[in-house]
Amino acid sequence: MTTVKPLAATGRILGNGTFGTVKEAIKVTLDNNIIVNNPLHHPRIPQISTGEKYALKVINKNHMRGREQLVRNEVKILKEISRGHRHIVTLHEYFETPNSLYLVLDLCSGGELFEYIMEKGSFYEENAAEIIRTVLDCVAYLHENNVVHRDIKPENLLFRSKDSLSQLMISDFGLSKMLETPDMMLSTKLGTPTYMAPEIFLHKGYGKPVDMWAIGVMTYFLLCGFFPFALEGGIVDEKVLRAEFYFEEPYWLDISSEAKDFISKLLYLNPHDRMTAVEAIKHPWMSFAPIQLGDGS
Ligand code: ADP
Ligand code: MG
Repeated sequence: MTTVKPLAATGRILGNGTFGTVKEAIKVTLDNNIIVNNPLHHPRIPQISTGEKYALKVINKNHMRGREQLVRNEVKILKEISRGHRHIVTLHEYFETPNSLYLVLDLCSGGELFEYIMEKGSFYEENAAEIIRTVLDCVAYLHENNVVHRDIKPENLLFRSKDSLSQLMISDFGLSKMLETPDMMLSTKLGTPTYMAPEIFLHKGYGKPVDMWAIGVMTYFLLCGFFPFALEGGIVDEKVLRAEFYFEEPYWLDISSEAKDFISKLLYLNPHDRMTAVEAIKHPWMSFAPIQLGDGS
């Protein structure tokens, strides 16, 4: 891991997470070789900004009591896989103080895909297909490395810059799991309910296909602006347990049959019937996305 310290917080809060806050930070050089142990240098110490910005995920150890393993997992997985794909947010450094854990990550200053959708309402199919292809490319890489993300959703997809949709990065490995064998079954009921696959609720044991289900839910949402399975008062719709959903008219009238077929093949009840990431990349709907030469890992 490269050393990016010393860092100074710029004061901009990028987002709030389950266990803490994500802040913008800037790499600084210190005057007169002042040696300080505190990684986030006190503002009174003379500092010169280098202009290099990062995102600093600060996790409060008090908040993570009982769920330490999840946070440790996030660091372990990011350390192992984040440099292997250019659409995964890189972990540059990691350090801790008695009260907090700090993750120094690539700064994604373009905000969340979620905010982008909320601004736009919904997407043109070409744009949605481009986004989904990037996500599939990342997920194919994760699954090949036996990592299940478990929290794929527009809040965890961030734009490195606002310039182009191709700058999308997958982030938040807070619920991810490294499988010991490719077919290892997980059982902990985890995730964001709207995106959770039926097998998670049914306590049947689950694996990589839960990410494919989440991508199906997200594609549906990108194209029409609402979810295939409603969530009321935190309780998930029973229909999810039967994978029962509709392409309601008039909202879906102008959307291609390829898009509907793509979604349907990700929202199969039986996880073995669902397309894998590699299969989904080859689905005809993916040819709606503009081809980017040199895209990929
Ligand atoms: P949690 O695991 O608690 O959901 P996240 O890692 O998703 O935490 O971070 C919470 C929010 O902080 C994100 O939804 C996003 O808005 C912002 N954020 C996280 N990482 C970055 C980053 N690398 N660059 C910019 N903003 C970020
Ligand atoms: Mg998150």
